[in-house]
Amino acid sequence: MKTINFVVIGYGGMGSYHAKGLIQEKDGVKVVGVYDIDQKRLDLAEEEGFKVYATLEDVLEDQSVEAVLIATPNDSHKELSIAALKAGKHVVCEKPVMMNTKEFEEVFALAKLEGKVFMVHQNRRWDNDFLIIRDLYKNKQIGELFQIESRVQGANGIPGDWRHLKQHGGGMLLDWGVHLLDQMLYMVDSPVKKVAADLSFVLGDDVDDGFISYLTFENGVKAIIEVGTTNFIKLPRWYVRGFEGAAVIRDWDLSGEIVKQTGTIDHHNLVPIKAGAGLTKTMAPPSEEATTTLRIKEVAADVAPFYANFYDVVRNNAEPIVKNEEVYRVLKLIEAIFEAAEKQQVIEFE
Ligand code: NAD
Repeated sequence: MKTINFVVIGYGGMGSYHAKGLIQEKDGVKVVGVYDIDQKRLDLAEEEGFKVYATLEDVLEDQSVEAVLIATPNDSHKELSIAALKAGKHVVCEKPVMMNTKEFEEVFALAKLEGKVFMVHQNRRWDNDFLIIRDLYKNKQIGELFQIESRVQGANGIPGDWRHLKQHGGGMLLDWGVHLLDQMLYMVDSPVKKVAADLSFVLGDDVDDGFISYLTFENGVKAIIEVGTTNFIKLPRWYVRGFEGAAVIRDWDLSGEIVKQTGTIDHHNLVPIKAGAGLTKTMAPPSEEATTTLRIKEVAADVAPFYANFYDVVRNNAEPIVKNEEVYRVLKLIEAIFEAAEKQQVIEFE
């Protein structure tokens, strides 16, 4: 097993997370150095025991470096990817891969031309909450899912850095949106036919501080994907309905439950309940015999960890778990969401 030596480009929040946690020798990958345009970040990296490179050229000329991880603001991914690929390095790039599909087409074509691996870090395909919902989708424990709602909401606004700025690829659609859309397209095995969306500008920034999008898949699944940064009370992370039940996962701690219909509901003999100032049969809870409540249980990933797969792709020509065609499709969908929101129209997609 010949280890793949990495240099981390961009030693900010995510770059340091890769360097100190994600890139591990047990997966055949190792960090041999760090490069950042900010001297303070380089000093910190050095204090933390990493070799630092003074310039990008020094990284690219170092023959012992086989791959780079790009974890810089979104607008710099393209230029850095091109430089690294031209210098003969494999590239792992943070999401969103590029600012738009046109940029990505160029980089994707270059990676093919150079015969180098270019893989995007869509790490949230390994999130426990997502794996559980994907398992429900595949195994039909509550029947076929026909409605999938995926949300992340917070109240801290957009973090106070480049994420506020349009020219750096800021905004929540290009940030959390990429993860949620990638998960949805990875899970639902059907073309997206229609897209509707609305962006939020509650904070008065140039870029969206959240969005809501509605996707209609060819197989009938309807999805709502929502990101909010001004939500002092948040809705559950996942809410899904199948033909035989429903499930909720409230948070990353996996709190929630699955309610499965296990008996018939006697529509003719429903007992009304008092609701507000009135009575209702329609909204009365189903009888206890008609449903079973199940605990949310963890589901193991059915694929290798990201960097173990990257190693296998580089050394053994294995199939990448995150395919560039999939990443491209997500970026195209993001463009459709921007268009749908701007025109306030439903967009025909695939
Ligand atoms: P950050 O601002 O914390 O760090 C960015 C770093 O890049 C800074 O240290 C900055 O000095 C450096 N930098 C800027 N331009 C550079 C250049 N041209 N060359 C070298 N260094 C440069 O940002 P962050 O939160 O770490 O985000 C970085 C990237 O990682 C973004 O693309 C973001 O979307 C992505 N990200 C991914 C996840 C995930 O879960 N996959 C989570 C957070 C961030």
